[in-house]
Amino acid sequence: MHELSIATHIVAVAQEEATARGVEVEAVHLRLGALSGVVVDSLLFGFEIASQGTPLEGTRLLIEEVPLTIYCPTCEAEVELAGIQSLRCPRCGELSGEIRRGKELEIVALEVKD
Ligand SMILES: [Zn+2]
Repeated sequence: MHELSIATHIVAVAQEEATARGVEVEAVHLRLGALSGVVVDSLLFGFEIASQGTPLEGTRLLIEEVPLTIYCPTCEAEVELAGIQSLRCPRCGELSGEIRRGKELEIVALEVKD
């Protein structure tokens, strides 16, 4: 499972950060782009497995999903797409290859215990 190795990586990074800061993690905030190819449910499940037996066991993984956003030169605007099947601007139908957002797979914050 692809998501399990990602989850293992997230646990390792979060734990390293928590150790460096001398804090205990309560929740991990993750930003996940539509193009990351990650299935949210599988990642949540993978996180549960990967965190078992580590100091992160019992912490929550909070995922902020980022829609695919392109820049449309015709509309001169950034446009959010409903899916990842087509890179056409939903407003004018122009094909744009310029992806602005949607590839994210990053830890954005750690919630820590007081
Ligand atoms: Zn457009």
